[in-house]
Amino acid sequence: MEEKEKKEGIEWVRTHCARMDHGGCALLVGVDRKENRIVQVKGDPEGFLNRGYICPKGVISPDRLTHPDRLRSPLKRVGERGEGKWTPVSWEEALEETAVAFNRIRETHGARAVAFGVGMPKGLEHFVLIRLANLFGSPNVVASQDVCHAPREITGIHTCGFYPVADFHQRSRLAVLWGSNITSTNEEGEICSLPLKQLKEGMDLIVVDPRKTDLAEKAKYWLPLRPGTDHALALAFLNVVIEESLYDRDFVEKWTHGFEDLAVHVRPYTPENMAGITWVPADRIREAARFYARSKPAVIQWGNPVEHNIHTFDITRALLCLMAVCGNLAVPGGNVEAVDPKIMGLGEFVRADLIPDKRKDMISAHHRVIPRLMTIAPAYFRKAVLEDVPYPVRGFYAMCSNPMLSYADSRLTYEAFRKLDFVAVADLFMTPTAAMADIVFPVASQFEFDDIGHYGIGHGYVLARPKVVDPPEGCWPDMKIMNELGKRMSPPELWHDDYREFLADLLKPSGLTYEQFAEKGYLKGPDRFRAYEAKGFRTPTGKVELRLSVAEKLRLKPLPEFSGLPEEEEPGYPLILTSAKSRYYLHSSYRWLDRFRKLRPRPKVEIHPETAARSGIAEGDEVVIETKNGSIVQYAELTDRVDRRTVNASHGWWFPEDSPESQYGWRKSNFNILTSAAPLGKEYGTPNLRAVGCRIRKASS
Ligand code: SF4
Repeated sequence: MEEKEKKEGIEWVRTHCARMDHGGCALLVGVDRKENRIVQVKGDPEGFLNRGYICPKGVISPDRLTHPDRLRSPLKRVGERGEGKWTPVSWEEALEETAVAFNRIRETHGARAVAFGVGMPKGLEHFVLIRLANLFGSPNVVASQDVCHAPREITGIHTCGFYPVADFHQRSRLAVLWGSNITSTNEEGEICSLPLKQLKEGMDLIVVDPRKTDLAEKAKYWLPLRPGTDHALALAFLNVVIEESLYDRDFVEKWTHGFEDLAVHVRPYTPENMAGITWVPADRIREAARFYARSKPAVIQWGNPVEHNIHTFDITRALLCLMAVCGNLAVPGGNVEAVDPKIMGLGEFVRADLIPDKRKDMISAHHRVIPRLMTIAPAYFRKAVLEDVPYPVRGFYAMCSNPMLSYADSRLTYEAFRKLDFVAVADLFMTPTAAMADIVFPVASQFEFDDIGHYGIGHGYVLARPKVVDPPEGCWPDMKIMNELGKRMSPPELWHDDYREFLADLLKPSGLTYEQFAEKGYLKGPDRFRAYEAKGFRTPTGKVELRLSVAEKLRLKPLPEFSGLPEEEEPGYPLILTSAKSRYYLHSSYRWLDRFRKLRPRPKVEIHPETAARSGIAEGDEVVIETKNGSIVQYAELTDRVDRRTVNASHGWWFPEDSPESQYGWRKSNFNILTSAAPLGKEYGTPNLRAVGCRIRKASS
């Protein structure tokens, strides 16, 4: 086989997947050097996270590189904004025009009037963007961290001094997938292959999910909770564990602060009291809570639905308290602190020292969000653009993101884009967001430049993503674009001659060159278990703070509580809307890839057959979904995987085949037309992305 491949000129390169989700699978990529073309991608059996596993997105990932609609030249808007009229320009012109526009805004309104936006972190460019903002002088980096990652991480830091991630590298007796459909999403540093292996070897499973997912069918307990009531369920777990003395007495006595207060506080949260709220029968809650407490070690893989409503602080606090009192924090096979390898720290890389007043000056500080949140919640960014609150924002640079689809209440996002003085967007393809730009930069994608993955997301390792093929002429890596913009918008000596020096900077403490790092494949920090025994927890009390000692100072609730449903119930909207991610797409990406569109050609809304029958809806019908905020259409899939009282719509849909002047049909099926940015959770500025009241009807009726 090898001989044949050699003859055919196929070379196999080791790298890591990226940009189809958080990435992490080690890959073997077959490349035809003569043609500069990838011919096959397969999982690398030696990958420490995936052990040869690869998902459909990984297999299809090279299609992004050769797609005929890929952007291959910088574009400048020539018509009205959003009119879909463009002319190709040189890189020099695109960079200069962008820099001049942002510099002008800085002169008129101050540096903070330019915001820098990013979506899901994919590679090192995420941190180069923060560096660009810092060096430009703007404290405003806009990211959807309010609904992804920050609540888990920051609440974790306040509660126990670190961000507890699921440790699937060691044996667990039990895994709780709490809002984590990991076989579809492989989210945030956790590839499903590791837990699946443990399941085969006898690990038990509890699934907390409104939908009957594939893994819910295999679980010992599936708890189909009402969307948005995670805190009620977690508090009921705490009630059972404490009332029945199932907690880890030794750990609680030595290493927790406020246990007595918590014990009194959770008394009313009995399974019987919470059953009506969560829809989970009391005896099932009780049995599952007992099972979690008695299975040691047990790991909770918490997905980002726990961050998708205004009560995310209570939800994450309750889950952290549960991990702690059951003795599952910082133990092998539990929820652990991941330690970075020897690489450059984030603050140094992004030059945080050059913007010392950032915490006080950033938009969200004026909304009094939790001070550790260093990015701006999208709702607050838009308020600055549309209402000049707390001050005006007039320029926006967006990269690796599609805010027209991904921010709650898309119509407000559209209005904000219309109002901005200047918008630059870097992307692979035209998107609804790129269609609202003044300048569009065409980027190089994964496989086309050297990169480092998983930096800064708290999982304790970094992954080498060496280049496999050359990008098309005219496409630049985001890092290179920002390195060149940076020279035009801030002191040039703070930027590099060649953007690849960012990789070298990051690796300097490890003593490795990028080539040596790529040869190794990854760097992982040491396992750290029970570090508190030597030094205590990194909290003000040195213990896990079941009762938060900083609550008064930071205006936080000292103990987690259930303060109500995310939304008041309204008779006109009797169903509860939620959403789930598809295994074929990443948020709003990749609708242009034919092989995915064949598998999932249009947005589906899952409806229970009885609910559908009441509205005269049949399989495949076009369905109007309405909330108080707006209406969209999606296509009915009738299934008993969802409860009769809920509907599960698809997220992130737009239509690349539609016209640029309609911004590619961003209104038709876009889930965020249905969501609202009022109210917002006060700790993180989080909107309700799920558990929204809705009604449905057949499109023609
Ligand atoms: S699971 Fe994620 S990292 Fe692995 S191949 Fe699929 S998209 Fe890539």
